Amino acid sequence: MFDRIAIIGMGLIGSSIARNVREKGLAKTLVAGDLSEDVCHAVVELDLADYVTRDLARAVEGADLVILAVPVGAMAAAMRGIAPGLKDNVIISDTGSVKMAVIEAVRPYLRAGMEFIPAHPIAGTEFSGPESGFAKLFQGRWCILTPMPETEIRAVEKLTQFWEACGSMIEIMEPAHHDLVLGITSHLPHLIAYTIVGTATELEEDTKSEVIKFSASGFRDFTRIAASDPVMWRDVFLNNKVAVLEILQRFTEDLTALQKAIRQGDGDYLYQTFDKTRAIRKAIVDQGQA
Ligand code: NAP
Repeated sequence: MFDRIAIIGMGLIGSSIARNVREKGLAKTLVAGDLSEDVCHAVVELDLADYVTRDLARAVEGADLVILAVPVGAMAAAMRGIAPGLKDNVIISDTGSVKMAVIEAVRPYLRAGMEFIPAHPIAGTEFSGPESGFAKLFQGRWCILTPMPETEIRAVEKLTQFWEACGSMIEIMEPAHHDLVLGITSHLPHLIAYTIVGTATELEEDTKSEVIKFSASGFRDFTRIAASDPVMWRDVFLNNKVAVLEILQRFTEDLTALQKAIRQGDGDYLYQTFDKTRAIRKAIVDQGQA
């Protein structure tokens, strides 16, 4: 599909893409770039690429597809690092969980002829690093592309084929809309999980009660989400501020309404709210995304 692919950032997502490139033969040559010496060693040990280097400009030399798979807050630095090595007619993409901020970070380094297609695979786990990646991560999962208005359609088609070969289904979206949708489906739930687990941990310390020992399934589910990488999630909230604060405001209002219903013994309101939300779960299961 490509002569030479370079992946910058060989953590969970970058290494999972690399495994797909290798297993499905999506490039003649695969180069990995990562600033971390430990990660580079792991890439060699796991045999995830043909070449691996900490020199990011060298990593992208001659590449016709470059994928930035670093935390959102590191996108500008990674782009600055690779810019001197990029060839003119390269397709550049990323995997960041936020799109508007990544576009702002990457755009200043683009030259005429380069095609930048922001992307976000909606697939992940609470683990990070090259050892945690696996090829099936993207199987049956959405990958959202938010191309620039000036992007060549042929480049979008090529990236679409690439992600489809990795097992993904493609959706094209406006970047601002992506940030709002993911704000509610991914960012807010992570914020809530971090809060609940934090509160429970403090409660255990304060009251010496056995919150963790007797954690029921509700709490256990939150602890899995709250075990996600702190760097990645710090960067998501710092870079999707407007959408997250907007959604948080609405969430707070809904929470206050539930609080009032509990205080006033309004069982009908509680029942109706809980009954309505079951339909969402059913729809997710029906669409095979559970
Ligand atoms: P990860 O496992 O932490 O991997 C990120 C890698 O990038 C690490 O090896 C890191 O090295 C390296 N790195 C950091 N700054 C760099 C720089 N300036 N230049 C080169 N390499 C650099 O993270 P991930 O989970 O794969 O996430 C990668 C991206 O995908 C993020 O933008 C995230 O928002 C997005 N994403 C994540 C998920 C998920 O569930 N995890 C899902 C979809 C999309 P160090 O560890 O030494 O810093």
